[in-house]
Order: sequence, then structure tokens, then C-alpha cells
Amino acid sequence: MKNLLFIFAIIAILPFASDAKDKKPTTREMDRINWMEFKELVPDQIDTVLLPTGTLEPHGVANNGADNTAPWAISKTIAERTNAMIAPTLAYGMTGSLAAYPGAFKMSEEVYRPFVKEIMEGLVKNKFKTLIIINGHGGGQTAVLKSVAAEIANEYQVRTLVINWWSFAADVTEEVFGENGGHAGWNENAFIQAIDPSLVHEDKYSDKLATPYPQNGSWAATPFPSSIGLYKEGEGYIKFDQKLADEYYEKVTDKLADFIVKIKAKWDLAGL
Ligand SMILES: [Zn+2]
Repeated sequence: MKNLLFIFAIIAILPFASDAKDKKPTTREMDRINWMEFKELVPDQIDTVLLPTGTLEPHGVANNGADNTAPWAISKTIAERTNAMIAPTLAYGMTGSLAAYPGAFKMSEEVYRPFVKEIMEGLVKNKFKTLIIINGHGGGQTAVLKSVAAEIANEYQVRTLVINWWSFAADVTEEVFGENGGHAGWNENAFIQAIDPSLVHEDKYSDKLATPYPQNGSWAATPFPSSIGLYKEGEGYIKFDQKLADEYYEKVTDKLADFIVKIKAKWDLAGL
């Protein structure tokens, strides 16, 4: 009888014990969470952090902060599936040939590199083992992010991954729109349209706003003459189709989430 009581007691306690362990986070955003909850979650339940990076620069008829809007939205969408926290967006970045446009903001590499490094070191100090940069801005910024992420992984024995969402999704762009895209082209504009249609200004659009990027580095213009730069001549001009935009967003974020889950499993399998 005593034993039976003991077993009943264990059975009664068990659900609460597992509840405490698998408690759903009240938020996955690092700037919304309380430190006591953070301590419970990281690293025991969550050892991964998504760090959205972007910049401020013109984007055709979308918002200047499109490179911040996209990685933040991606992070929010995939955080649960990748079991990750989300660090605040690094919204100032290394804008290149579009820096002369109104509202653009350019950080030098000399400032950006140590800035990113200290932020990643701060994430390591906070016990994250897997640091994933969801990057929204290309150009020289990509090389800096890749190099800093590799340094952090090697110096602190953590795992880092840098993903440029738009190039990672190039095959999805072809699949959904049947053609290539561009900077602020149909693909990127549609991605923003899916996140928040009010950020996209169809009434301001004309195909004249776009210029194809030079092939084979045959020329370089600073400032770049258009805020929409097409990867391929004749492709990527914007059509404003909400349904295709939503489909694109879903397929891109699915692909990103699956990839991150897969890479984490490979790291685990290798014991890294
Ligand atoms: Zn962009």
C-alpha cells in the first residue's frame, strides 16, 4: 500500500515536472523576454539564436528598411520550428553603391566588422551554441559576416551559419515567378508585400525604375543609376500579385527552416 501511494505520488508529479521542462516560451524575442525566463530557457531548452542583419538603402517602391524587414519576419516565422531565440536586428549595415539615395545609411567595414563581432561574442557569452545570421543585405557585408562568423566559431567552439535569404531562395524565385529577380525586383518586392502590403507602393512603380546589373563586371556606376537592380536582362520587373507573394514567402521560409534544422542535425551527428 505504501508503495502504491508512492507510485501514485510519482504519477501525479510527473506531468508537472515535464511541464516545467517543456514550458512554451512566452516570447522568443531577446528584447521582450525577462532575464529569469531567459535563464530557464537558454541553453537547456534553446541553444540557438537567429540574428537578423540588414541595412538602410532604397528599394524601388518598397521601404528603405526592406533588408531589415525581411530577415526579421523570416526569424519570427521560423523561430519555433528551429527552436531558436531571436536577437534584435542589426539594422545599420554596409550599404554600397546605393548610399547616395535619400534615407540611406552607410557603415564602414572598419566599424561594422568589430561591431558584429562583439554582438556575436555577446550571444556566446549568453550561452548560445548555435548562432545563425539571417542576412538581408548583400555586397561587401556578406563577406564580412561570413568571415566574422567563422572567426567566432573557431575561437569559441560554437556553431555558426550565415544565410543570404534571397540567394538561398533563388530556385524558389524561378519556381514561383518563372524568372529571375533582382535587388528590389519582383522577388524581393513580393517578399515585402507578403510581410506587409502597406510597405509596397504600386502607384509609384514603373519599369523605368529598374536597371539590369552589369554582366561580368564590365562596368560599375556609383551611385548605381537605379534602386532596382535586375540580375538578368528582361527578368525581375515587378508585378504586384499578392497570391504569388504569399506563396513565395511561405516557400522561402519553409526552405530556410528545413535547411537550418538539417544543418543542426548534422552538427549534432558529428558531435560538434
Ligand atoms: Zn534588399
